[in-house]
Amino acid sequence: MTPSESVFVLWFLSANLLPDVKTLFQKIYVGEIPADILYKDDLCCAFRDISPQAPTHVLIVPKKPIPRIGEATVEDQATLGHLLLTAGKLATDLGLSESGFRIAINHGPHGGETVPHLHVHLLGGRQLEWPPG
Ligand code: 5GP
Repeated sequence: MTPSESVFVLWFLSANLLPDVKTLFQKIYVGEIPADILYKDDLCCAFRDISPQAPTHVLIVPKKPIPRIGEATVEDQATLGHLLLTAGKLATDLGLSESGFRIAINHGPHGGETVPHLHVHLLGGRQLEWPPG
């Protein structure tokens, strides 16, 4: 086999046989899994949670699959700021500014994380309890 044939075989195998490594939220970002998407740009997208815990429950997700907040690095600083600004703007757009809302990020088992792709929860539309359960 020539070197260029080997490169082709390696490309073919990786493109066709390796498991799909996209996260659940990457699949939503690219449209492979349907979701009620409210906002999308080059850095993040926001969509309604499939199992809402409040009348408004939106997830704001970075395009980059940072697994969880404690694994973000200084390189992710702009993305993290963008997620918070987007959450605040969405809250305003969804009419939550006056009544109030909460943003939350869960990390690991005790935090209640179930999807290992960083996401900001935006919750509103009812009185939220504090401390959280
Ligand atoms: P975590 O528990 O990791 O902080 O939050 C994950 C969230 O993702 C949960 O609130 C869960 O309801 C939501 N979720 C899980 N699978 C899907 C899905 O396929 N579509 C949407 N829209 N939300 C999902």
